[in-house]
Amino acid sequence: MATGEIFRRIRTPWLDHVSQHLAHVEGVRETFRQPLAAFYDVVVRCVETGDAAFLNPILEQWGEARTQSELEDPRSSLPLVLNQILMATYQLAHEQLSGAEALQVMERFLPIYSYALERTSIMETQLHVKHVSDELDRARCELERLEKIKSDFIAVAAHELKTPLTLIEGYAAMLKEIDLDNKGNTVLAGMYLNGIHSGTRRLREIVDDMIDVSMIDNDLLSLSFQPVWLNRLLDTVQREVTQVVKERRQQFKVNKFPGLDEMTFGDGERLLQAFRNVVTNAIKYTPDGGSVTVDGRVLPGFIEVIVTDTGIGINGEDHTRIFEKFGRLGSVMTHSSGKTKFKGGGPGLGLPITKGIIEAHGGTIWVESRGHDEVKCPGSAFHIMLPLRKSPPDDKVARLYGPLAEVQDNSRAE
Ligand code: ADP
Repeated sequence: MATGEIFRRIRTPWLDHVSQHLAHVEGVRETFRQPLAAFYDVVVRCVETGDAAFLNPILEQWGEARTQSELEDPRSSLPLVLNQILMATYQLAHEQLSGAEALQVMERFLPIYSYALERTSIMETQLHVKHVSDELDRARCELERLEKIKSDFIAVAAHELKTPLTLIEGYAAMLKEIDLDNKGNTVLAGMYLNGIHSGTRRLREIVDDMIDVSMIDNDLLSLSFQPVWLNRLLDTVQREVTQVVKERRQQFKVNKFPGLDEMTFGDGERLLQAFRNVVTNAIKYTPDGGSVTVDGRVLPGFIEVIVTDTGIGINGEDHTRIFEKFGRLGSVMTHSSGKTKFKGGGPGLGLPITKGIIEAHGGTIWVESRGHDEVKCPGSAFHIMLPLRKSPPDDKVARLYGPLAEVQDNSRAE
């Protein structure tokens, strides 16, 4: 019997057998059947014409249909599928055909198989190379972005550090010039010392921010969980900003919202730092005469605090970037060390630190804003969601209270 005819005769059992071989899951088997049937019909054509190239379109189709995850999974590689097909074909021929027919089938099938194997191997290698080079391109772009952020950061950090340093240098030089034995110069000396003091304070703040960012980055930020009340934290922030709010002729209001007076566990100092950052930003990026409002609500297991301003707003594409380390720096020229001056940007570490603090508490922070417009001032709303806790989280106890907590824990266990 002609080989083509034998192939046609075993079409249905071949499809059953091979699809069973390729997938053990019943539902999946059906999805294999149709492409296998198309493949088999082309194989028969190749057998009859002696030209394996008829397989090209179908193999290309299979290659193009490969998804990214399939490409990364060696178990679903096309050469492997072809091997399974070969094995299943051999088994079927062995079981259902006479020795001579089986030999006839395998003799014609093997060259077609090896042709298909070669083509799919080349195709797969090309696809892998493309995949890897796409990944490399992506990594290169990300590296370039990080490199730019880093060099921008160095420029801004140097500028930020230089401003208070120049101040300190200037006051120290003036202090050196005056005659300290002359009692009349005491007031002047006091003024210069004040200048030096505020310069060093600003320097410390910047250096502290840098240390905080690196601790958050390296997962070293340790929190001391203690009872905290949001109303007290927000009162402190309000007190701190009273003077600047007055200078900027802004309104600052903390609404009485449910949960404001509730006690929770958190690191009071760190939470204060986080709220201070968000509120001072709201003041900074709101023009004179605008307003900043703190509101909130209780959600199951959480409390949400919302700081809304009537400021310049933030573009959609920056809503996540501003929380990234050095993610949004702008030009060095727009940066000034004035912490609450309108648009007086700092080193761009405030929000990444805030995010790190909130996340270390098990919370989240995000911003909503209709965009950036310095004329229309669409405003921004920073949402801070914190878990409401009746006690410090277990995993933090030992780490935060050190060996003492471990001793106490052990004694409790005994
Ligand atoms: P910076 O020290 O520059 O203020 P932050 O990390 O605190 O750094 O903020 C990052 C950037 O996010 C700011 O430079 C500013 O562009 C933007 N931003 C933060 N808060 C606001 C706000 N309330 N309104 C508009 N823009 C804001």
